[in-house]
Amino acid sequence: MAYLDEHMETISREELEELQYKLLRSQVTRLYSSSPFYHARMREAKVHPDDIRSLQDIVKLPFVHKKDLRDNYPEGMLSVPRREVIRYHASSGTTGKPTVVCYTRKDIDTWTESLARGLTSIGLGPDDVIQVSNTYGLFSGGLGFHYAAERIGAAVVPASTGNTERQIELILDLGVTAMAATPSYMLHLGEVAEKMGVSIKKDTKLKVGLLGGEPWSIKMRDRIDEWLGIKGINCYGSSEMYGPMFTECSEQDGIHIWGDIAYAEILDQETGGPVAPGEKGELVLTMLQKEALPMIRYRVGDVTEMVDEPCACGRTHPKIRRIFGRVDDMLIIRGINVFPSQVEHALMGIPEVGEHFQIVVDRKGALDTMLVRVELKKEAFTDNIVQLMDLRERIAYRLRGILNIKAAVELVEPDNLQRFEGKAKRVIDRRDI
Ligand code: ZN
Repeated sequence: MAYLDEHMETISREELEELQYKLLRSQVTRLYSSSPFYHARMREAKVHPDDIRSLQDIVKLPFVHKKDLRDNYPEGMLSVPRREVIRYHASSGTTGKPTVVCYTRKDIDTWTESLARGLTSIGLGPDDVIQVSNTYGLFSGGLGFHYAAERIGAAVVPASTGNTERQIELILDLGVTAMAATPSYMLHLGEVAEKMGVSIKKDTKLKVGLLGGEPWSIKMRDRIDEWLGIKGINCYGSSEMYGPMFTECSEQDGIHIWGDIAYAEILDQETGGPVAPGEKGELVLTMLQKEALPMIRYRVGDVTEMVDEPCACGRTHPKIRRIFGRVDDMLIIRGINVFPSQVEHALMGIPEVGEHFQIVVDRKGALDTMLVRVELKKEAFTDNIVQLMDLRERIAYRLRGILNIKAAVELVEPDNLQRFEGKAKRVIDRRDI
């Protein structure tokens, strides 16, 4: 079993927690004296670095929200002298101003190390050719995977997004073995390849998909594996953390959060207190080594749960389950919480259903309505009305079973729903709330 940093990745839990406490203490001490933003926040919360006497004391520190980054746009949260910044990235906020994130040289190193450990943990190394089909530029995805792939000695193909035919040619011609992309792009690529007469499974060396950037289900993973012959590795991160930085290991059962780099808490969204072990809640991360834009108790907004049992891969760092969805993606329909990933999970269990769907939420009078538009597989599409009605009935029944609410179902011919090269936009909410 190959490790990038065997000592650190297999450190005992006691040693790890001791290290986390030391890093937390020195981070908080530094910020109190040199970051106007954190100094003000800690004064407000009446907490001093001396109050942090154990790792558990982290709960005394105030939360940081995405809104803080927006309110302090562009550099109000910068916590090092400006001349130490060597790079900027930005995230395209869907609402309002974008947020800008900045990095010192050490930040780029820590980020690279974090993702490179992940790539090593799934068995990638110098023999691999990794095509990075995430956007390069202000978005942190492309360069994040690029640096990590180089760090493990793999050959990088910096394809970025778009021009899917060309991407498929590169996969064939350069013997690409792994590809970083969103799960929806991976599916799109599979479809385009089929139209070109290329079977990703039989004609290429592509075996690993480094997939993330949007929540996706295990059923979707199994489909990608079955159809394209690609092991879909769940990758996690966001530009506020550094960028994409954590992945599943070869066990594919949870994402390792490197404890020397980040401390993870799972909190009850409403109360802000901890959930019981193994319960679902909002992920809150504290970056223990981040310099330019340190995030302390950052409310990531993703809903997941902690897996705190030893991993068969030998790594001792805690893991989180795949993300159920964003706190803000959660739809409340007739008082019931619905995540688009649950709809995906329900649909992917039905063999006739293709990979693309759309959820339309509306309000008729006082009542919320939910319509799920489902694209059928080519081979499942028929003009036999009775068969189609029966299928529609089965889909509606399964959705009701998983979501606990009734949804209308519309069957859509193959290739009729919109395709996405980046994050899929699966929900249309027409309610005027
Ligand atoms: Zn593991």
